Amino acid sequence: HKNRQDKGPPGRGAFKRIVQLSPTLKTKPDVSSFGVDFTDHMLTIEWSSTEGWKAPLIKPFGNLSLHPACSSLHYAIQVFEGLKVYRGDDNKLRLFRPMLNMNRMASSAKKACLPAFDQPEFLECIRRLVEIDQDWVPHSYNASLYIRPTFISTEQSLGVKKPCRALLYVIMCLAGTYFNTNAASLWADPKYIRAWKGGTGDCKMGGNYGCSLFALDEAVDNGCQQVLWLYGDDHQITEAGTMNVFLFWINEDGEEELATPPLDGIILPGVTRQSILDLTRNWGEFKVSERYLTMSQLCSALKQQRVKEMFGSGTACMICPIRHIAYNGQVRNLSNIYKEEI
Ligand code: PMP
Repeated sequence: HKNRQDKGPPGRGAFKRIVQLSPTLKTKPDVSSFGVDFTDHMLTIEWSSTEGWKAPLIKPFGNLSLHPACSSLHYAIQVFEGLKVYRGDDNKLRLFRPMLNMNRMASSAKKACLPAFDQPEFLECIRRLVEIDQDWVPHSYNASLYIRPTFISTEQSLGVKKPCRALLYVIMCLAGTYFNTNAASLWADPKYIRAWKGGTGDCKMGGNYGCSLFALDEAVDNGCQQVLWLYGDDHQITEAGTMNVFLFWINEDGEEELATPPLDGIILPGVTRQSILDLTRNWGEFKVSERYLTMSQLCSALKQQRVKEMFGSGTACMICPIRHIAYNGQVRNLSNIYKEEI
């Protein structure tokens, strides 16, 4: 291993990174599905309440060694992020709005009682990791490299308590097409609830995802790809799978409107969601709203042919049109509203 100390960019304080380059490099696959082919290196940064943050270490990709009582394994004291790096036509690599992910990770960590971290410094470590594994960023319009910052408690005891030890790490993998088809079929059953007021649905915590699997399994058994998560007695539309949801329609007042549920504590504040809101507000071509949408509003709009598009948004899938919604024993077909075959 080649060991060396990175001083960090000029002007960035006394921050030191240790880089251990991998002696062998993996063969990069030509085609890859999402999240299975990992790059040659990873980043780890250890923390303890007594010593604070240790020096960030970039090292060959490999397994972690964890104490079996480690509280992230038992009580899901864990948060994560997901962002992508793209190769432009000019061959330059660009991270997509990464500070929004740093901010979101910091607020998720706060809710999980994990320690605060220096967001610009952490981003600089990620930038350096990307630079080292830059050959992994596909030369393709359709593919990119997905970055998974992860923050786990490494507390070595079975007590349910605020961790005294933690590990922040980053792995990266190829991200091809997320879903098998271009448009998603959704399963909407109000008996399943993804998030609730006062809970952690607005954070990227592992536990939110593990406990969604049972509903997803039922969706798949019923021929759907994802769950359309509803909330409350009025069956508010909240999110679709791991995506924010948008409805482009003629609303009850006859206005052309792009609508998505508001960030009221049960919605994950998606970076793609924010970007769609920023862009479309900037266009000024139609009304753009963060508002509640219920299944009965959607069903009457579908009946009256007022729905122009409905889609999910997220880093992994980017924009995913919604094709069918199975709800209340009936399948609502949206594919006929799209001009092109999906
Ligand atoms: N909702 C949930 C529940 C998610 O897990 C994600 C993926 N992070 C999103 C929405 C979309 O967020 P983003 O656009 O930041 O990927």
